[in-house]
Amino acid sequence: SARDLAERALANARRHAHLNAFIGVDPERALAAAERAGNARGPLAGIPFAHKDIFCTKGQRTTCASHVLENFIAPYDAHVAERLDAAGAVSIGKTNMDEFAMGSSNENSAFGAVKNPWDEARVPGGSSGGSAAAVAAGIVPFATGTDTGGSIRQPAAFCGVTGLKPTYGRVSRYGMIAYASSLDCGGVLARSAADCAHVFAAIAGHDPRDATSAARAVDDVAASLDAPLAGLRIGVAREYFGAGVDDGVAACVREALAELEKLGATLVDVSLPNAHHAIAAYYVIAPAEASSNLARYDGVRYGHRAAQPKSLDDLYSRSRAESFGAEVKRRILVGTYVLSAGYYDAYYLRAQKVRRLIAGDFAQAFGDVDLIAGPTAPTTAFRLGEKSNDAIAMYAADVNTVAVNLAGLPAISTPAGFVGGLPVGLQLVAPAFAEARLLNVSHRLQ
Ligand code: GLN
Repeated sequence: SARDLAERALANARRHAHLNAFIGVDPERALAAAERAGNARGPLAGIPFAHKDIFCTKGQRTTCASHVLENFIAPYDAHVAERLDAAGAVSIGKTNMDEFAMGSSNENSAFGAVKNPWDEARVPGGSSGGSAAAVAAGIVPFATGTDTGGSIRQPAAFCGVTGLKPTYGRVSRYGMIAYASSLDCGGVLARSAADCAHVFAAIAGHDPRDATSAARAVDDVAASLDAPLAGLRIGVAREYFGAGVDDGVAACVREALAELEKLGATLVDVSLPNAHHAIAAYYVIAPAEASSNLARYDGVRYGHRAAQPKSLDDLYSRSRAESFGAEVKRRILVGTYVLSAGYYDAYYLRAQKVRRLIAGDFAQAFGDVDLIAGPTAPTTAFRLGEKSNDAIAMYAADVNTVAVNLAGLPAISTPAGFVGGLPVGLQLVAPAFAEARLLNVSHRLQ
């Protein structure tokens, strides 16, 4: 029964508490949801899961892994939460993440780092590291995530699970705490592509409360999971195997691509000539938008409020200084700098032009191929602490994922194999709204 499944997931969460994958587990709420789920029908009815703590869940603490929102109780449900509730899925709690989804290792959480279940001395990836670890450890069969520059795909790769980042606008951002609004995308991490398909079907679709939500009908992604791959053209992006990509990782991904060839796909060499500009453009645009979105945390309307302010300015500056973490402050500084008069043209406007070129690269390549493939991340999961004092090295972990968000495209990370006992992810990128193709290919490979 739904109750048995919820109890088992709750017991698993307790057993794996040392992974720190959860910011909050709520047994009472989960058991009440399991009770309600008794009447639901469909593939998710009674299935336990967890929400990344960036999704507002009504009446429940929603922290975004920040001291700013440490005691914030969301007054409404995110669209994604409403949809999963309606499908009868049972949330057991909220997963750990990098603060405001800024990071690639989950070490930027105000609630502490998460351990990778495959090797507890290593990071699970980020920012949806808690979701990836919770699925990999078998606590829940799926978890929600968000992906602004790789935060679903990279932790999925590091933890050996499947992570789907839908097309920008396919999943409503309503009630999903904003990081960089033109890039943010809700999605799912699960044990298989088939499970991702069922969750995607539940959460995708138009929502008038998000002005960027796509009105277009959602494809029946579950129906095409088993479609044959004969005739499929997969572009192998040269740049995705460039400098910085570990040899073992590259070889493992090429083996997975050879498997797809055996299943009938044709591999084609493609080039994305502006790929090497993606990190630079992303780390201008994302902080710019973040600095604007995070202006709302002023100590008045939301979250942490400094004690005994001497003036309004003092209230603002101390409330923010006391509660944002170091990486969030770095992003706000970078973001306000690139948007300021005199620098705007040189940085922000230029990054937007590069964004256009990157989208053009994909459009050009998709004239010839159905999908574009490469390693999700340049390495396997790195050690806790290995990159935490080197922002540039940390940002480089996103080299193959950020361009996809700049172009608004859907992508999946699917398990490709292991190197040194650690999972490797194969990233597949599709044209806008071709999630069915990603899930089909990933399913056939699994
Ligand atoms: N690692 C990237 C960043 O820190 C991407 C994060 C994300 O996708 N939310 O911005």
